[in-house]
Amino acid sequence: MRHLRGALFVFLCLVTSFTLIAFAALEGRSDPQWLVVIDAGHGGVDPGAHGPNGVREKQINLEIARILEILALGDPDIKVVLTRRSDQTLPLKTRTDLANRLKAALYVSIHSNAHNDSRVEGIETLVADSPEHPMYSRSLQLAQMIQQQIMARLSPIGIPSRGVKRQPLYIRWAQMPSVIVESGFVTNPKGEERLQSPWYQVQIAQAVLAGIKAYLKSH
Ligand SMILES: [Zn+2]
Repeated sequence: MRHLRGALFVFLCLVTSFTLIAFAALEGRSDPQWLVVIDAGHGGVDPGAHGPNGVREKQINLEIARILEILALGDPDIKVVLTRRSDQTLPLKTRTDLANRLKAALYVSIHSNAHNDSRVEGIETLVADSPEHPMYSRSLQLAQMIQQQIMARLSPIGIPSRGVKRQPLYIRWAQMPSVIVESGFVTNPKGEERLQSPWYQVQIAQAVLAGIKAYLKSH
């Protein structure tokens, strides 16, 4: 009888342990694997570029960033943190500092482009021109994946790719792979109209998220 009680006790202990491990595993699975900081460029006293009909870049950038945040809610592997959620003035350093403090996996800043020639249009993704940066080649890979995803959606409607470009940019302060997505020219009258359309904003947000996922799954 004592043996039986002993065996039952061990059995119950094992069942309890396995149950706890199973719960822990389930909880672990529900925790997002990757934290990604999404930055809506400009904001507050800094409106960014202007369209011919007065559309401000800071507003478009925020709308796209917020759509991306909502889309990411459906992905158990990714947690999105926005640098700003309203029309707020935010220094560039504060933006990358947030990503560094959170030890984010990626930093992606959403912008709309500007050109003196209002006929210029197209999509480009930028990386900081800092080949000495430890994340330089990873940033290039991330930029290529995002650019590819955007063009897969927008080439069919005739929007040209301007490719991945290197520029001296503040995102070099980010300690993780970091890019700036230029989601269209607000200075082009058609571009300004497109950038305001919810359909277009969703295309950009979906494509950026798809590029982020493709990158994270390949690293
Ligand atoms: Zn901008």
